[in-house]
Amino acid sequence: MRYAAAYILITSGVLLFLNISAPIMIRKLTYTAQRNAILDKAQLIVSTFSNSSRLDAEVVRDATQSINDLHTTRVVFTDAGAYCIYDSLDAENNQERLILYPEVTMALDGKDAVYIRYEDGVIITKAAMPIVAYNRIIGAVYLLERDADQAALIDSLQKMFFWISVGLELLVIAVSILFSALFSHRIRGLFLSVRKLHGGDYSVRLPERGHDEVSQLSAAFNKLAKRLDQSEQVRKQFVSNASHELKTPLASIKLLTDSILQNDMDQGTMREFVADVGNEADRLTRLSAKLLELTRLDSQPHEEKELTIIRPVADRVLRMLTPVARTQQIRLNLDCPEDIVVLATADDLYQILFNLVENGIKYNTSGGEVWIRASVTADSIIIAVEDTGLGIPDSEKPHIFERFYRVDKARSRKAGGAGLGLSIVYDMVVRNDGSVTVTDREGGGSCFRLSFPNHPTPEEELP
Ligand code: ADP
Repeated sequence: MRYAAAYILITSGVLLFLNISAPIMIRKLTYTAQRNAILDKAQLIVSTFSNSSRLDAEVVRDATQSINDLHTTRVVFTDAGAYCIYDSLDAENNQERLILYPEVTMALDGKDAVYIRYEDGVIITKAAMPIVAYNRIIGAVYLLERDADQAALIDSLQKMFFWISVGLELLVIAVSILFSALFSHRIRGLFLSVRKLHGGDYSVRLPERGHDEVSQLSAAFNKLAKRLDQSEQVRKQFVSNASHELKTPLASIKLLTDSILQNDMDQGTMREFVADVGNEADRLTRLSAKLLELTRLDSQPHEEKELTIIRPVADRVLRMLTPVARTQQIRLNLDCPEDIVVLATADDLYQILFNLVENGIKYNTSGGEVWIRASVTADSIIIAVEDTGLGIPDSEKPHIFERFYRVDKARSRKAGGAGLGLSIVYDMVVRNDGSVTVTDREGGGSCFRLSFPNHPTPEEELP
């Protein structure tokens, strides 16, 4: 409404100015034309006396014969003493009458006089001019014109201006109100949607009509709402999965402790139950560590990447996992040249390899093997983690990097997994500009293939 008011105010000002100034200008032009016309007429009259030495009724009568077609309302001739010689309004009674009009006085003083006035729908023009013969003022001529036509024309023009302005102004008011109502309706829609979004309703969307700024704003808003909607879904899914994962070991612990408290059990069974409580607690610890890792990945800005030599990191991973592998009679192997480096933080590389090798052990069979193999191509650093385990069905491969996704739920849970290990791997690989794929290993098992860009490594940059 403020915009509409501004438009209306500006156009009103312009129209008011035109309404005042245009008639003034027209009147000025008309007055100038009238003034010139009456002076021309007076000059014409005066010129007819250029050869007369005196001015009397007879001379004037002769001259007035030719004046009849001048369309003048009144013509008066006076002698040098301002006595009337001839008056067209009162032609019979001219004698001994002093004409004391200011214009006549001025003319007898030797100056031309013109006076224009608008009165009651009529333009009144008066002019007087001295009649000079042989350098002597012998009288004056006085003309008066009453022009109603010009005045009516000016009046009608003024009225026309006024009504056109009123029409224009009404149009401007209507259009301004319409446009500002439309505009503010859309802005209000946007505002209400922002409020809804702020209140947690991420399903809100705005219509995207046209290409103007409001439509662009609506499109940007919709994108934002969609993103928020998606991340809210992910968040909800994550929270519900996480709480479900936490609930299971907690329920087991509760069940086990209740059994220990209620039953009169022998020492051996009790030890078994307590060991199970310990296992569940371990599982909880692992789960919360992974959840923390994921939250850290989501929220923390990534540290500067560094050139990391792969072999020592892979060595450390295998050393850490050797005890677990040994309990399941699984052999861990490393096939990695000493000098291969990758541009990734050492901590991320450790975590990636740890999760992959841990899975290679978890989803393997007794007597199986796991390998870490690293190699270099022209533009990539390839690290493969292979195992002789169960393998992953093709239909499951696209999903295994999703959070909380497990192929064989019973086996995974038994092995202490929550479906988070590979999603951590995926996030970490991606944030180090790499990619990860999974294929079947020839001869059974799975092969996880990591690929990182191969950056040129100047000697001095090596850690
Ligand atoms: P989990 O913590 O359950 O191991 P992951 O995200 O690490 O979760 O793995 C997701 C699922 O992918 C696992 O439940 C498992 O079924 C399958 N998986 C992962 N690695 C392997 C592998 N090396 N061999 C066979 N299956 C695997």
